Amino acid sequence: MTEAIWTLHCSACSYTASGDGLASVCPDCGLPLMVKHRPAAMASVTTEPTMWRYSDTMPIRDGEVRVSLGEGMTPLIEVPEFAAHAGVGRVWIKDEGSNPTASFKARGLCMAVTRAKALGLKGLCVPTAGNAGIALAAYAAAARMPARIYAPQTTPPPILGSIRAYGAELVLVDGHIGDAGKATKAFATESGYFNVATVREPYRVEGMKTMGYEIAEAFGWRDLPDALVYPTGGGEGTIGIWKAFQEMIEWGWLAADVRLPKMIVAQASGCAPLVRAFTAGADHATPWENPATHASGLRVPGPFGDRLVLRTLKDSNGGAFAVDEDTMRADTLRLASTCGIDAAPEGGCALAVAGMLASAGLVDPDARVVVFNTGSGASYRW
Ligand SMILES: *Cc1c(COP(=O)(O)O)cnc(C)c1O
Ligand SMILES: [Zn+2]
Repeated sequence: MTEAIWTLHCSACSYTASGDGLASVCPDCGLPLMVKHRPAAMASVTTEPTMWRYSDTMPIRDGEVRVSLGEGMTPLIEVPEFAAHAGVGRVWIKDEGSNPTASFKARGLCMAVTRAKALGLKGLCVPTAGNAGIALAAYAAAARMPARIYAPQTTPPPILGSIRAYGAELVLVDGHIGDAGKATKAFATESGYFNVATVREPYRVEGMKTMGYEIAEAFGWRDLPDALVYPTGGGEGTIGIWKAFQEMIEWGWLAADVRLPKMIVAQASGCAPLVRAFTAGADHATPWENPATHASGLRVPGPFGDRLVLRTLKDSNGGAFAVDEDTMRADTLRLASTCGIDAAPEGGCALAVAGMLASAGLVDPDARVVVFNTGSGASYRW
């Protein structure tokens, strides 16, 4: 086996390590580790119709097996009705609900399980608000590895049913994803299973970043959209996309003077720790008390990647907005009934935020905006 062509770097201190071994958080300061690829002058994009078309930039070594179910290269659908409604020039929906396991979580767990399989790990566990659990369950099955999922009791039943169908062990937890996170940590310590919680290992983000490459490719590697609106819980999607933009500039995939999109975080007003922190100008978030929203992917009161998300918002001159439950429901239904897009509540939340950008002065009235529908509405209807 060749040596890893990437290294690991702490997002907060000067710790570095080779990419060859097992990696969780920074052993020196406890904050997230990030992957740094060797300057990939030769990196190229293939014609493969999945996120693996960018495999030159992903943490996989020659000879290793991709644990793939056909993730990525999701549709980008223009919705002119919503441009008028939102008061901007053009709006597209990046429909991540069409991924295997019905959400963008497929990308990250695909990458994390691929690395775990290559390292010969014994089993995997994860705390989830729902969709990360389905994705781990499916990719662990594809890798022929055991998995245990910790999810809140309140997780939508179709999601719990899918987790069970993929053969993972499901443990229901009183409380929210933070409580599930504590139970997962305790189980990982006692069992030797590896915990693949959001940004507690560096490889999920490496799958998520492919959304950034796909956006750049769809817009011809220049004239990028003015803003990307991402419904944000743990922050992995937002962090990954922004990392991809930095890499593309470093590697010359994008011109050094390209105008990068503003990154916009959409949260539910019942659980908006990142909006609160950004609005206060803070560099980290404090936990949200009594988190409540029907958009279960956004019910993350204490995101571990908070510093990285807030830095992304600052570096991209972006913004963060909260949406109430009724508005979220209405925009979710509108996406389904007027455009045929199977929107998750998180997608409805992001769409509602797209309508706030021009009046907040963040974008011009002729701006081009991409809204991420991160999951499938079918997972939330029962
Ligand atoms: C997990 C999830 C989110 C939040 O994504 P983060 O990367 O944790 O910020 C949004 N929407 C859906 C459907 C999700 O499953
Ligand atoms: Zn560190």
